[in-house]
Amino acid sequence: MKILYSTIAIVSLSIMAEICPTCGLPKDLCVCSEIEKEQQRIRIRLETRKFGRPTTIVDGINDKNTNLASTAKKLKGVCACGGTAKNGQILLQGDHREKVREYLIKLGYPEGNIELQ
Ligand SMILES: [Zn+2]
Repeated sequence: MKILYSTIAIVSLSIMAEICPTCGLPKDLCVCSEIEKEQQRIRIRLETRKFGRPTTIVDGINDKNTNLASTAKKLKGVCACGGTAKNGQILLQGDHREKVREYLIKLGYPEGNIELQ
């Protein structure tokens, strides 16, 4: 019994680096980042800010696997516009709601969780 236990201990130690700390599954099988994406509710809305300029505002992206600043950067490229990430929101100059939605779906966010306003 004692021998068996230490064998198991050695085996689990040797694969520990490959295991996800959240779910305990090997990284190959881990779907934590997908689950996080599925649990989020993202809202895309248009606001008219100062000087009557329309701004697309994206909020609800809050998983720890996603870097909001780099997502904002990619969206600026996709929409060819200026923008920024702050206070957990992405702000893009102009009306890019449809493009943003398509891009987020491409990133793996479920279509049904993205609310377009
Ligand atoms: Zn996991």
